[in-house]
Amino acid sequence: MRQPMCSFKTSSPGRHGLLPLLWLVASAAAQTPQLNPGPVATEFDIRDAAQFRKIVAPDARLERLATGMKFTEGPVWVPRDGGFLVFSDIPSDELKRWTRADGLNTFRKPSRNANGNTVDRQGRLISCEHTGRRVVRLEPDGSLITLVDRFEGKRFNSPNDVAVHPDGSLWFTDPDYGLRGEPSDYGARFVFRFDPASRALSVVATDFDKPNGICFAPNGRKLYVADSGKPRHIRVFDVKKGGAVSGGAVFCQIDKGVPDGIRCDAKGRVFSSAGDGVHIFAPDGRLIGKILVPETPANLCFGEADGKTLFITARTSLYAIRLLTRGPR
Ligand code: MG
Repeated sequence: MRQPMCSFKTSSPGRHGLLPLLWLVASAAAQTPQLNPGPVATEFDIRDAAQFRKIVAPDARLERLATGMKFTEGPVWVPRDGGFLVFSDIPSDELKRWTRADGLNTFRKPSRNANGNTVDRQGRLISCEHTGRRVVRLEPDGSLITLVDRFEGKRFNSPNDVAVHPDGSLWFTDPDYGLRGEPSDYGARFVFRFDPASRALSVVATDFDKPNGICFAPNGRKLYVADSGKPRHIRVFDVKKGGAVSGGAVFCQIDKGVPDGIRCDAKGRVFSSAGDGVHIFAPDGRLIGKILVPETPANLCFGEADGKTLFITARTSLYAIRLLTRGPR
C-alpha cells in the first residue's frame, strides 16, 4: 500500500471558497462509502481471451464479503482448524479473521499495524508489523515471537510483505511507508531474506524505490518483487539453491495505479493488485486481463479448501471471486 496511515484520499476544497466545513463533510463521506456485503458489478478487461478464459469463467462473479474497515491488506489463507482467512486492517491496528460460516471477527488486536501476512511450511502465521518494525511468528501455543527486527543492529523501516520460499526461508520487503516521514535507521529500503533455522539475515536487493509485494513461482526458482514507488513495475529474479539471486529484469509494468500485493497461481501466472483491480500476467510478463474491483486493491491471495478462491483486500472491504485456477500447494 502507498499510504498505510491514510485511509482516504484528500482533495482540494476548490478555489472558490466553499466553506471548509462542506469539504470536511464531503471528506467524511468519502471515508465511509455506503457499501454493503454481497454481489457487486463484475467487470473484466480482457486482453487475451483464450488465456483469460482458462482463469476466469464467463459466469464468475465478484462478491463483497465484508466492508466498513479502514484500509485492508495482507490476506492469507490459514489451512488449519478447517481453514480461515486472516488479513490486516492497518489503521485499525487489527488482524481480522473471516470464514463463510462465521463471517468477520477480530483475530488479533492490537496488531502493531501489521501489514503483509503469510504462513510458513508448518502452517504458522507470519506477519510484517509496521509500528513493531519487525517480522513476527504466531506460535501454536498462541504466543507471538519476534523473528527478526534489525539489520546490522539498526531497526527496519516498516516491513511490508513477506513470502516463504520452499526451503523455509522468509523473504520480505522493507519500504518506508510506515515511518510516516521519519528517517530510516539504515538509510535505505531493501529486500531481505531471513533463514529462521540459522537466523541469518541477508540482503536480496538494494535498488528498489519502494519494494512492496513479494512472491515466488510455485517451484521457488523465480522471485517477483513489486516496486510501488516511482517505477510502478514488478521485477523478476532467478533464485538459486542457498538463496542467491541473479537477474532482476522488469517483468511487467502496471498501467493503472501501482503494484502492491502480488501472488503466483499454480501455473506460475502473476496476479497483481493495481489501481483498477487485479491484473493477471502470463509467466512471460504479457497482460492476460484484469478483474476490475470497485475499490482499489492493495493485496490478494488464493484460499479455501480447493485454493480456487481469490481473496482481494481493497480499501474498506474484502472481496472474493471463484476462479478456474488455484494457488500453489
Ligand atoms: Mg504491500
